[in-house]
Amino acid sequence: MNLPHLLLHICCAPDEAWVVKTLKDNYQLHCFFCNPNIDDRDEYLLRSNEAAMVARHYDVSFTEDDYNPELWEESVADVIDTPEGGERCRRCFRLRLERTASFCTTIGWTNFTTVMSISPHKNIRDLNEIGTGCAQKHGLNYLCYDFKKKDGFKNSILLSKELNLYRQDYCGCRLSKAESEIRKKRRLENQSFDTSSRYIFR
Ligand code: SF4
Repeated sequence: MNLPHLLLHICCAPDEAWVVKTLKDNYQLHCFFCNPNIDDRDEYLLRSNEAAMVARHYDVSFTEDDYNPELWEESVADVIDTPEGGERCRRCFRLRLERTASFCTTIGWTNFTTVMSISPHKNIRDLNEIGTGCAQKHGLNYLCYDFKKKDGFKNSILLSKELNLYRQDYCGCRLSKAESEIRKKRRLENQSFDTSSRYIFR
């Protein structure tokens, strides 16, 4: 049976695994790892290697984009100080989806989407609007999936544990890494405060 083609933009292995598992019987998939937003080379290599491993596990073809963090820096330079979820993230989505659309044209396919919608931290309206805009520019179709529906996010966590995948604790760029470190520090401070409170009230 000839299945329709669908190019999947991949941000990380855990999101990829659940989406590929869900769609592979309905589409001929190709995974495209495109993440110039990750500024740390070791982190980038870890995520790309895991993503390639997931594609092999499900017997799906896989391409990795050239790694060029300077592209990301240029795209967000004038909005670098905006918080997560704001204009910085919209520019970041546009950069990655624009490159995915361009790759889709290169391989002669017409449908693409991203696995990023599985994350509860990503604004689905922004993703759909930006994906659709990139598709129109190239004469392609962006499929407006929301993979977090039907417990997609929870299932991706369970599946990544089952496949023993690396799960990062920040989105990808240097700012999200710094924000995650601040959150971790606050959690630790709160824990030590709780411990001392219990001691006082005994
Ligand atoms: S927080 Fe994530 S989506 Fe937003 S700019 Fe950073 S890497 Fe991109």
